[in-house]
Amino acid sequence: MKDQENLQALFAPGGDPGQWLTGYLRTRAHLASQGSDFHCDPACTRPGCKNPEMLVPVSIVDLLGAAGQLGEPVATVYRRYYSLGVFPNERNDWIRVVALRLQKPCTFLKNDLCGIYSVRPLPCILFPEYLAAEGKFEAEARKEHFRDYLCFQAPLLLSPERAGIMVRLKQMWTRETLISSFYLFGHGPCYLDFSNLAPELQQRAQELRGPEAAESLAPNVIPQSVLEGFFLEHLARLQPFAGVEEKIAPLQDRRGEAEFLRLLQDDRLLRRLQQGEGDRAIVFRFAKGKLKAKRQSLLPAEYKYY
Ligand code: SF4
Repeated sequence: MKDQENLQALFAPGGDPGQWLTGYLRTRAHLASQGSDFHCDPACTRPGCKNPEMLVPVSIVDLLGAAGQLGEPVATVYRRYYSLGVFPNERNDWIRVVALRLQKPCTFLKNDLCGIYSVRPLPCILFPEYLAAEGKFEAEARKEHFRDYLCFQAPLLLSPERAGIMVRLKQMWTRETLISSFYLFGHGPCYLDFSNLAPELQQRAQELRGPEAAESLAPNVIPQSVLEGFFLEHLARLQPFAGVEEKIAPLQDRRGEAEFLRLLQDDRLLRRLQQGEGDRAIVFRFAKGKLKAKRQSLLPAEYKYY
């Protein structure tokens, strides 16, 4: 309850942006450990931090927190440790989300310790406890890519208090990512539809996997490196993606930081972005050397009638 009050106070309008951000990050760090019995096994080799296939999305809050801790300009920190990434989104089709991500293997990891632990990205804080809070832990533990993770070798039980904190941290994450996307791209999540590029992507995937690969690969098994390679080669130089560094540079100034933090506190903007997320999403397609955007529903067909 006290934390909830603190959070509300942090989101009150006015005040110094730098102080506000410090308080927000302090609250996040406090919630990261409050009521938690989870600790990384000392024998863990940190596969989640090292594996390039394990994508870690980040928000602009994460970026500002790391820049503050490192004492370096935010644009420099972005270029050195982060990039745009192409994320899967619980769908089995060709639509992906473009968002900020950590470069992998994560260069904040030193001697198997996180160099920015107190301001580490919210996804690093949430993993793996949020899976237990959402009832997904056991199913994820059976997946091949988590086979070497020591934290999946035994069941993970959360107290009701800790499960509630996970919900609160996920709400903070939703706010941070939606507002970050709005700040960078001018709308909510930035979707990319690769379906018209399927033959080329499948060809690239088969070249990578060798001649024994199946004739056609389903969207959900196109390797991440193929999608991101295509994105960097053809799409990253086009707007809105080409303008991301120009958007990040002003965050170094007090005024630019204040402008982003004002957006982060805007509840009406957040509700608007959440409402538009499913049924009026902006989806980009790449054709004839150009990116074209249109609004379309991404809700499963069966949801549209309720
Ligand atoms: S930021 Fe820290 S916890 Fe997150 S992947 Fe990097 S080293 Fe690991």
